[in-house]
Amino acid sequence: MSRLLRPARMLLLGPPGSGKGTQTERLRKQFEIPGISSGDILRRHIKDGTEIGQLASSIINQGKLLPDDLMTKVVASELRRRHWLSPSTSWLLDGFPRTQAQAEMLDAQELGPANAGMNLVVELQVPEDAMLDRIANRLVHVPSGRVYNLTYNPPKVPGRDDVTGEPLSQRPDDDPAVFRKRLNEYRASTEPLVEYYKNSGDVLWSVAGETSDVIYAQLEREVVRRFGESVDESADNGFGGCWSGRLAFVNNN
Ligand code: ATP
Ligand code: MG
Repeated sequence: MSRLLRPARMLLLGPPGSGKGTQTERLRKQFEIPGISSGDILRRHIKDGTEIGQLASSIINQGKLLPDDLMTKVVASELRRRHWLSPSTSWLLDGFPRTQAQAEMLDAQELGPANAGMNLVVELQVPEDAMLDRIANRLVHVPSGRVYNLTYNPPKVPGRDDVTGEPLSQRPDDDPAVFRKRLNEYRASTEPLVEYYKNSGDVLWSVAGETSDVIYAQLEREVVRRFGESVDESADNGFGGCWSGRLAFVNNN
């Protein structure tokens, strides 16, 4: 077990198929940090047939990015709705910000005024073959964003979500030709973000590995090093059960 002693507000950056969703899910479980994924939000809009969903679906299927101001509005309203714009909160963002313009808007309009700046930006580096292989074998449960992999992490019942039993689907943008475009879009639009965060204090941390397990082990260690501690569950550590109280007293700014 590991846990947080200070608020951790994290962003995962990486090319399509680098495992942002998988790492987010594992961090959420391990540290009980809530997270949101911009791609999952958009896929829910598409499924619900909203106005945003209609615009998003054609853009996503071409492997392009949605307009910066629209994306910032969508995510900012989610941050507000969840009361995450406060210095004592911990959260994880997957897929937003994804361009420098989005990062600048988010910092200037939302996080800065709330004194809730991002304090860890993780750059995932995965070989291209591994990413291609993953997207070819990926299934998603759209309502929850849960991701399965036919090779590494298959659903218990083929084609069905483990938790709800609802059908899984393949993402239309997980097609090799669209993947290429998404990768190019990543290199053009998102790589500059790494530079942006390099100049934002000691927040950027890069990790490389071929598998999600290799990456997760390093990521967990880094999160513990920066924000928490490892807990030996067999030992009596003297404050079992009250760590969320401790968290509330600590301000990391
Ligand atoms: P993966 O899910 O494999 O990590 P990805 O990062 O390309 O790959 P998602 O984050 O699920 O995929 O996003 C899917 C699509 O949604 C993107 O290709 C893009 O069209 C749109 N999208 C998601 N987030 C943003 C954003 N912050 N700005 C603009 N468009 C976005
Ligand atoms: Mg994703």
